[in-house]
Amino acid sequence: MSSAPRVPAFDASELNELKQKLVTACHILDREGITDGYGHVSVRLPGAAAFLTIANVSPGCATLERLIMQDLEGNYLGGANTPPNEWPIHACVMKVRPDVTSVCHTHSLWSTLFSVLPMKLRPLHHYGNFLPAGGPPIYQGAGLVRTVERGDALAAALGDAAVVLMRAHGDTVVGDSIEQVVQRTIRLAKIGELAHLALLHGEPDYLKAEELEIFRADSKFPARGWEYYVSRLGPRS
Ligand SMILES: [Zn+2]
Repeated sequence: MSSAPRVPAFDASELNELKQKLVTACHILDREGITDGYGHVSVRLPGAAAFLTIANVSPGCATLERLIMQDLEGNYLGGANTPPNEWPIHACVMKVRPDVTSVCHTHSLWSTLFSVLPMKLRPLHHYGNFLPAGGPPIYQGAGLVRTVERGDALAAALGDAAVVLMRAHGDTVVGDSIEQVVQRTIRLAKIGELAHLALLHGEPDYLKAEELEIFRADSKFPARGWEYYVSRLGPRS
């Protein structure tokens, strides 16, 4: 029998590094033009059924004081008590995906574009090696994901994938770290832009499943990408 996992207090110093990384992740997504006034990143608390995310604030305006801690039912556990509108995205995905540490939801231009086009967003560069050869699934539900019912439907559409596009809305991306989910979200946008350009010239020579496997095997942890994106952050007042 395992005992219930301990949830650290919001102000516990052991969370300082994770909180700072979450704020940095939000600023990177803003700096890279992925988010506008909306979108959020979350991180699961190690070993606990709870997560940290930003408290109904634009990612570009995120600060340590504007984070919130919630459990996977959405109950408030600490921090600024204004949950983001679409908190069920994080809670519902983490509930059914114990392998997921971090979740990112954005209204990315490129994800939204391919959520409504007749063709799928299929990988055509090795940056897309976390996508299936046939392209990511698409959540068809209308409306913001403000209820657990919609969150569960989104998580079902995601399945065991790393990405689900959300029709006429944006995307949800998952990963095993904040660094990975941020890099995946940025790369997803790059793949969208590249696919859009390629499609202007006819049918692209997309990567095949076995080729994606080879690129996956060659991939390393994206620490270098994270350092690069941090280096591009200017001073924020
Ligand atoms: Zn949204």
